Amino acid sequence: MTLYADRTFKIDTENAFKVGPHIVRVEKERSPVVKLNLGEPDFPVPVHIKDEIKRQLDLDNTHYCDPQGLIGLREAIARQVTETRGFEVGPQQVVVFPGGKPPIGLAQQVYCNPGDEVIYPSPGFPIYESFIRYVDAIPVPLHLDESSDFTFSPEQLSELITSKTKLIYLNFPSNPTGGVATREQLKAIAEVIEERCSKDVRVYSDEIYENILFDDQEHHSIASMPGMASRSIIASGFSKTYAWTGGRIGYAVFPNSEEAEIFKNLNINYFSCVPPYNQEAAKVALESPLSKTAVGEMVQTFEQRRNEIWEALNKVEGISCRKPGGAFYLFPNISEVCSNLGLMEFHEGLPEAEKKETSPAGFFQMFALYEHQVAVLDRRSFGSLGSEGKHYLRLSTASEIGVLREGVRRLEEASKNQAGLQRFIQNRPDLQ
Ligand code: PMP
Repeated sequence: MTLYADRTFKIDTENAFKVGPHIVRVEKERSPVVKLNLGEPDFPVPVHIKDEIKRQLDLDNTHYCDPQGLIGLREAIARQVTETRGFEVGPQQVVVFPGGKPPIGLAQQVYCNPGDEVIYPSPGFPIYESFIRYVDAIPVPLHLDESSDFTFSPEQLSELITSKTKLIYLNFPSNPTGGVATREQLKAIAEVIEERCSKDVRVYSDEIYENILFDDQEHHSIASMPGMASRSIIASGFSKTYAWTGGRIGYAVFPNSEEAEIFKNLNINYFSCVPPYNQEAAKVALESPLSKTAVGEMVQTFEQRRNEIWEALNKVEGISCRKPGGAFYLFPNISEVCSNLGLMEFHEGLPEAEKKETSPAGFFQMFALYEHQVAVLDRRSFGSLGSEGKHYLRLSTASEIGVLREGVRRLEEASKNQAGLQRFIQNRPDLQ
């Protein structure tokens, strides 16, 4: 007999959370870290939303509630989705979750049998890949190329679809690349899905960054394309749009009430319900005219930061970066930096097991953190399968511009610090 069930170690993790203890150590033992690893807006929750949370607490709205989500909030979500996606959605199709994250794994539990295939973007939010083996499904990464601004072609998707395909994750605007698909691209992707997939294949469209778009772009959803409403799950939430990651409110809109009921029952089994005082405030977030101004100001700030930091990164020798269309991340290519520092050979020379678990960009990430006190994440943190030979970092722009400038300066310093890197490799403070 063994202590742990076989599935226990089949689940992976999110490195964004794992890097935290390293940052704490570096700050304790060395000096303050410039944190460009953060996946949450650096803004307070807008005042009118905070006021509603407080008001609800004072009303003692602190008890169990509908496990599917408060009807008032579900109606508000249904109205908003109907308006923005261009097809009718009812509150019976909506399920509220504690954040945008839970329905990702729950969807795999609901739709996948062992041996079914799950297609997901890579680089992508790590939780898509992390869960797949936990449910004994097969991961099928859909590689997003820099040359197509981190989108993909219908042909690329078509090649991956088989009779075993069960779930297809999409995420635009994307974490970690900021890539955005155009309406035309989504239409062509939808055509391939219509043509190649049975009606029982679900498209999980993670649209959590739907409101963080630049250059006057509008958000488009695959669910709005012909034939896709009955196949798509639209997932979104309040963490990013309202800078409210601690509120833990997300939602998914299912193609019909039957599927929504199944997720409601999982909610009952796992956590009963989402705090009602937060749900009431989420309803205010969706309905108050004050939200538009607050969100607009935040997005404008993200756009200004993107413009400046994107330019600054491209001035660093050995770094090149595509201009992201949304979200609050930059995803520079650091291949040349890795080559110049000799990280490719160093990685190549490692024992096979260690080589598989690491990457040249991952060493650069740790080196930059320990020796230059700047925290970023490597490409491998966003889907490890097929990430070999891809040398990128993710920088978040969720910090004030002065901090971001300093972060780029430190990365530039690190990119030239051959002697420091040798010291780091000899001492490996990250392993101590
Ligand atoms: N999807 C994507 C693409 C994300 O980037 C995140 C958060 N980083 C989530 C889902 C999860 O959001 P939440 O904090 O609401 O669970």
